[in-house]
Amino acid sequence: MSDPLAPERWERALVTGASSGIGLAMAELLAERGTDLVVVARDGARLERLAARLSPGAEVEVLVADLGDRDQLATAVERLGSAVSPIDLLVNNAGFGFSGDFIGLDPDGETAVVDVNIVALHRLAHAAGTAMSARGRGGILNVSSIAGYGPAPRAATYAATKAFVTSFSEALYSELGPQGVTVSCLCPGLTRTEFQQRSGSSTDRTPGFLWQSAEAVARAGLDGLDRGRAVVVPGTHNKILSTGLRLAPIRLIDQVRRRFR
Ligand code: NAP
Repeated sequence: MSDPLAPERWERALVTGASSGIGLAMAELLAERGTDLVVVARDGARLERLAARLSPGAEVEVLVADLGDRDQLATAVERLGSAVSPIDLLVNNAGFGFSGDFIGLDPDGETAVVDVNIVALHRLAHAAGTAMSARGRGGILNVSSIAGYGPAPRAATYAATKAFVTSFSEALYSELGPQGVTVSCLCPGLTRTEFQQRSGSSTDRTPGFLWQSAEAVARAGLDGLDRGRAVVVPGTHNKILSTGLRLAPIRLIDQVRRRFR
C-alpha cells in the first residue's frame, strides 16, 4: 500500500524562475524526489549550470525565456500544451517587484511586474489547466506572497499583483480540483533570495526572526500542494502577519511600514 504521507510522485515539472531563490530550491527538491524538469528563466547560463548539476539524476530541459515578452512566453505556453514528455506539475514562481512610491518608479518597470507576475502566470496556468484537466491529473503551484493580503504602500503594484495571484489561485482550486488538477497558492513572507536586492528595498531594520530560507519555503509549498491545500503560508509568524494584513485598516498598515522602511 502506498504511504499517504509520502510526497506526490510528479513525473515532469515546469518551474518558472528556476535560476535563483525559491524556484531554484523547488527544482532541486523536485529532482531529489525523482521528478524530471523543464526549467525556465532569462539567465540561460545559470539554468545550464543547474541542469548539469541535477543530471543525470533528473532529466532537465532548459527553456530560456523572458516571460514578460509575449513571444517568449508563447514558447513556455506551447511546452505546457505539448503531448510529448507531458508536464504534470507547473510551478508558477517567476516574479519580482520594485520598492518605492508608485509615481517615482519607472512606469515601464511597473508594467513589466504586471506582465510577469500576472499575465505570464495567468497564461501558463491556462495552458497547464487545459492540458492537465484533459488528462485528468496534474498540479499547479502558484507563488504569491503575504504582501497580497493587504495594500502595500511603496510596493503598491507588487502587492496588487500578488492579491490577484492569491484570489485567482483559490478560484482555480475550486474549478480544477474536481477535474483531478490540484491548485495551490504559496504565500511566502520574507525569504532570503535575490528578490530584495532586485527590488531595491532595504531590509536592514527587519528583525531576523521574520526571515526564512528559500529551501524551507519551497518545501512548504510542495508539501502543501501534495496535501491538497488551497493556500500555504509558511511559518507561524507569516500566518499571524497575513491575518493582521487582512484585517488592519490602511492607516495602521502605513504606520507600521514607515517604522521599518
Ligand atoms: P529571486 O531570487 O529574485 O528569483 C526570481 C526568479 O524569477 C529568478 O529565477 C528570475 O530569473 C525569474 N524571473 C524574473 N523575471 C523574469 C522574467 N521576466 N522572465 C523569466 N523569469 C523571470 O526571487 P525569489 O524570492 O526566489 O522569487 C520567487 C517568487 O517568490 C516571486 O514570485 C516572488 O514574488 C515570490 N516571493 C518572494 C519573497 C521573498 O522575500 N523573497 C516573498 C514573497 C514572495 P532570471 O533573472 O534568470 O530571469
